[in-house]
Amino acid sequence: MNPKPLFPTPDPLQRVLYRFWPSQRLNMDPLGDFCVEDRYFPITIANWKMISPVSCLMLARRVPQPLTFRADARLTIVIPFRDREAHLKELLPPLTARLAEQGVRYRILVVEQEPGRSFNRGKLINVGFHHAQADSDYYCIHDVDAIPVVADYRCPSQPLRLVTRLLSTNRPESICPTHYFSGAISVLKEQVFAVNGFSNEYWGWGKEDDEFLFRLQLAGFLCYFDSHGAYHDLPNPAAQQVAQPALRKPPHVRLNRARRSRLMRGLVDPSADGISTLGYDLLAEEVHEHYTKVRVRI
Ligand code: UDP
Ligand code: MN
Repeated sequence: MNPKPLFPTPDPLQRVLYRFWPSQRLNMDPLGDFCVEDRYFPITIANWKMISPVSCLMLARRVPQPLTFRADARLTIVIPFRDREAHLKELLPPLTARLAEQGVRYRILVVEQEPGRSFNRGKLINVGFHHAQADSDYYCIHDVDAIPVVADYRCPSQPLRLVTRLLSTNRPESICPTHYFSGAISVLKEQVFAVNGFSNEYWGWGKEDDEFLFRLQLAGFLCYFDSHGAYHDLPNPAAQQVAQPALRKPPHVRLNRARRSRLMRGLVDPSADGISTLGYDLLAEEVHEHYTKVRVRI
């Protein structure tokens, strides 16, 4: 394997062109055509909105690892959660059905944030990683409103986004953009710990998922998506519809974007913010028939 011609860094002229003519950037990532089993494709780096020193670093560090699946690994499904009982009820039957069909050894861990502060999805996921560490070989980070229809929960050798097609949705798009890294993501435990998990600093809504993808790509992991993956996307409860397009974004959205941009400029060190610096209080642990719920103060 010769990694050299696979990962060219765009030359300066190209970078200026792509900055002002973003559509030209599509497919400039040489891994754009690579695929496994006609189904799993690498998440390309060049489609990112921002061309920055960090995205060039990601290209340079990436190693062409093929995607394979391992049998007999223990899965923990980590669901960040607050006030979505109706969604959880709707999710469990199809989720457990898919897992049973595929013969996956799993447990489902719902990590619930106590009322009070604004929601912190990344930190709750870190709690799940930490809490389930001893008996997991891999995790699936799962939104409670992502209902699996075609979904592959096997243990992947590389980080894998399971969602590509959104079958019912309150948003305009029904095919997820290639760089989207949310919904349902399977990752090996050692890969999660190699990147120190998620940032704990994204409060309110959004962008922590982008940062997690950056962390994995900066560490050299080739991330994939399942092009057959299809999910129903339940609409958020009215009180939680924070992602509405608005002319002026709410302050937490701007803060989170600014933070992600700082990471893109190489100004954030993932090892200083993540599972290694996680602090939380375990308030309760309830064992239900199909899942365990931990309630935490973060
Ligand atoms: N979530 C939750 N309660 C909240 C906000 C988020 O349980 O108040 C969890 C839930 O698992 C959800 C995920 O975080 O699926 C992503 O949040 P959300 O659905 O609000 O994101 P969006 O669909 O707007 O991207
Ligand atoms: Mn949602």
